[in-house]
Amino acid sequence: MPPAAHVSQSTPFRWSGIDELVYKDGGTTFRDVTRRVLFGEEHGNGVEVRYFEIAAGGHTTLERHGHTHSVMPLTGAGRCLVGETVYRLALHDLVYVPEWTWHQFRADEDAPLGILCVVRVDRDRPTLPTQSDLAALRRSPAAEFIRV
Ligand code: MN
Repeated sequence: MPPAAHVSQSTPFRWSGIDELVYKDGGTTFRDVTRRVLFGEEHGNGVEVRYFEIAAGGHTTLERHGHTHSVMPLTGAGRCLVGETVYRLALHDLVYVPEWTWHQFRADEDAPLGILCVVRVDRDRPTLPTQSDLAALRRSPAAEFIRV
């Protein structure tokens, strides 16, 4: 069956027929994150558009990889790390994560953070920081922000 031409939002940031998925399989590198694939491989343009929701106090995995991310915060409040810089996010800001750049998203302690994220369908697996990578990050402006 071809993808639907139109999908309704059922309640805010929930879409008819689009299931909540686990953020990542296993591991303890993240906290309280859900994933929804809004547009997938079947849409035929080589990208996936995902909606991630990070609960208050939660965070995504600190990682890097050869593919890039194009991100827009849609709801809530939070911050992100890109490289060694932490950014306070306003809704509808644009965040670009270049290839092989450390990144992590965190919701504020009192609000969730919902983000739209575009990636290539054909992409590599994320890489986690080694002890040596972590030591370097802990000497950088990212030190107070990162969660592993
Ligand atoms: Mn990533």
